[in-house]
Amino acid sequence: MKRFKGIHHITAIVGDPQENLNFYTEVLGLRFIKKTVNFDDPYTYHFYFGDRVGKPGTVITTFPYTEGRKGKIGGGQVATTSYLVPMASQDFWEERLKNFNITYVKNKSFDEECIQFEDPHGLQIELVFSDRGEESDWEFNGISSKEAIKGFAGATLWSLFPEKTMNLLEEVLGFEKVDEKLDIIRYKSTDSIGNIIDLKTTPMSIGKMGIGTVHHIALRVKDEEELLEWSNVLKERGFLVSPLRDRKYFKSIYFREKGGNLFEIATDIPGFTVDEAVEELGQSLKLPSQYESIRDEIEKSLVPVKVKEF
Ligand code: ZN
Repeated sequence: MKRFKGIHHITAIVGDPQENLNFYTEVLGLRFIKKTVNFDDPYTYHFYFGDRVGKPGTVITTFPYTEGRKGKIGGGQVATTSYLVPMASQDFWEERLKNFNITYVKNKSFDEECIQFEDPHGLQIELVFSDRGEESDWEFNGISSKEAIKGFAGATLWSLFPEKTMNLLEEVLGFEKVDEKLDIIRYKSTDSIGNIIDLKTTPMSIGKMGIGTVHHIALRVKDEEELLEWSNVLKERGFLVSPLRDRKYFKSIYFREKGGNLFEIATDIPGFTVDEAVEELGQSLKLPSQYESIRDEIEKSLVPVKVKEF
């Protein structure tokens, strides 16, 4: 059976672009690795935040809307996005969140300690203190490798029909059920980061897509060949799979599972350095070739944003 290594990226809908940028860089210390537009709606931004190079498994992407309706987290969505941070960094992060006036709660993610809070637009974020994963070499605004986010721990899915989502994870995508606690089943894949999916087994009422909700979760494959293999596997299992899309930094397909969650499968290649050098990632507005001819119009319609320097 084919198995996924783990998460490629998670994409969310958020509010004000500068607020979004400030939170993920200034507070969480991620790198702003790509400033581009929504390829399906080029007059809105698409931001990417990750580690130094935007390695798969570290990348959260956002569609910021200055004006837009607030969503509601519910069935058929990623309810919580979890990040891995070094085991010994708990005091550091608690202190940091307090300094930024961010309310958090301490909790347990199965056997590991975690803290949970919301981003400025209502996304549920969790930091899991763990020795899993390699230290990040991206240091920013007072966060050193000893504290920096290493990448995703995983994601918690809420489903309209948990048994159907369970079936997808176990029988189609090749995730291994490794634990169960209260109404959460833990699934694992093979990567050292971004390899956990926690599924809530209580059916949840349908969410509403909008600001403060996750739009989709993407799993990683090596290349286009593997992507097409997965497309065939999913079609054979009766899923409606999108045509292959060229997202410039990866190629991908999308499908909606029967519990309501929108999944994407994305290639590791070519990655975020395909149109900018590593040192320059995120510094200028990057457009796919089909929009270069209307760059002026696009630039005029977007609110300028900037990563604060420290
Ligand atoms: Zn995506």
